[in-house]
Amino acid sequence: MKVRYSYLPQQFGDCEDLWQELRDFVVTGDFTLGEPLTKFEKSFAKLIGTKYAIGVNSGTDAIKLSLKALNIVPGDEVITVANTFVATVGAICELGATPVFVDCDDTFCMNVELVEEKITEKTKALLPVHYTGYMTDMRVINHIAEKYNIPVVEDACQSILGAIDGKNAGTWGSTGAFSLHPLKNINVWSDGGVIVTDDDELCKKLMLLRNHGFEDRDTVVMMGCNSRLDTIQAVVGNWILPQAQSISNQRIANAKYLDNGLREIKQITIPPRPENFRLVFHLYIVFATNRDGLLKHCLEKGIDAKIHYPIPIYKQSALRYLGHKTGDFPVTDAHVEKIITFPCDQHLEQKQLDYIIDTVAEYYGQ
Ligand SMILES: *Cc1c(COP(=O)(O)O)cnc(C)c1O
Repeated sequence: MKVRYSYLPQQFGDCEDLWQELRDFVVTGDFTLGEPLTKFEKSFAKLIGTKYAIGVNSGTDAIKLSLKALNIVPGDEVITVANTFVATVGAICELGATPVFVDCDDTFCMNVELVEEKITEKTKALLPVHYTGYMTDMRVINHIAEKYNIPVVEDACQSILGAIDGKNAGTWGSTGAFSLHPLKNINVWSDGGVIVTDDDELCKKLMLLRNHGFEDRDTVVMMGCNSRLDTIQAVVGNWILPQAQSISNQRIANAKYLDNGLREIKQITIPPRPENFRLVFHLYIVFATNRDGLLKHCLEKGIDAKIHYPIPIYKQSALRYLGHKTGDFPVTDAHVEKIITFPCDQHLEQKQLDYIIDTVAEYYGQ
C-alpha cells in the first residue's frame, strides 16, 4: 500500500465551483487588494477570533512585518525556539536583529521555563512558535511578556485553529502570523500569509507596511514594501476557509487514531497530549527507538515518513556566527535522533492509518 505525504492533488481535486469563481474574478481585473481580499481578511479574522486580519505575501513576511511594526531594529534581540522552520529565524535576521534561542520540550515548543533567563536589555520581542500544530504555553509567555513589558509575536504558521483553553493560536500575542503556503493546513495556490491582531494602531501600520506605505495613491507615510496577498489567491482562500474547521477536526481525529494504535508499541513514545490544548497536527511526530531503521522500513513499505528536521535550525551553517554548539539545546538535539513524522492529513483513509500502525508494529516484530 502507498501512503503518500502530499495530499495536494486531492485538496483541489474537486473544485469546479472555484474555477467558476476564478473566471468571474479574472474579468473584474481587480488583481491587487480589492474586494475578494477584503472579504478573505474579514472571514479569516472571524475564524481566528481577532478584530483584524491582514493578508501578506507569505508566512515569513507575516512574522517579519509584525516585528517591523513593533519597531524591531538591527541589534535588537528576539527570543525564539531552537527547533523551528528556518523562516521564523530568517524573519528575525532579515531585520538585522539577533535570534536568541530557547530549547524546546517534548511538545516541540519552547520550554517556557527557560525563557526568562534569556531576557536582556536588548530583548525587544518574544517569538514563540506553535510548532507542528502544538501550542506554546501562552499563559506563561504572556505572563513573562507583561512582567518585562516585551511584545509577543506568535508564529502560528503550523497551528491554525490550535488553541489553549479554547483561545486560538494567534490571539494571544500583539500579532499572530499564519502561512497559506501549499503545505500548510489551510493553503492557497502559491505563497501567502496572514497577520492577525486586535490592535487598531498595529493594524493600520501593517496595512501600510505591506503596501509601500501608501496612505492613498499619492501619499507615502512610511517606507514599507510590496507584500500584498495576491487577490486571486484570496479567491482561493475564500473557497477553502469554510473547510478550515472540518480539516482540523479530521487531522485531530486521525492523530487520535494513530496515537491509539502506536501507543500499544513499546518502542514508540507518543508526545504529551495536554487536555486543555487543542493540537492541530500540522506534523504528526512520535518518538521511536532505532528511528533510522524504522524510517527505512516505512519507506520501503511505501509510507512517506519524514524527519522534521535532521539538522535543527540553530545548528545550520548559516547561523554559525551565533557560536552555538551541540549540547546548547539538549532536548532539541535529543529529538533529532528519535523523531519520525507520519502522514496525518484530512484525505487519508482509515486503511492507510491502519497500515501505518501495522507497518510500525511489524518493524518491531509485534
Ligand atoms: C511555513 C512556516 C513559516 C513561513 O511560512 P511561508 O509562508 O512559507 O513563508 C514560518 N514559520 C513556520 C513555523 C512555518 O512552518
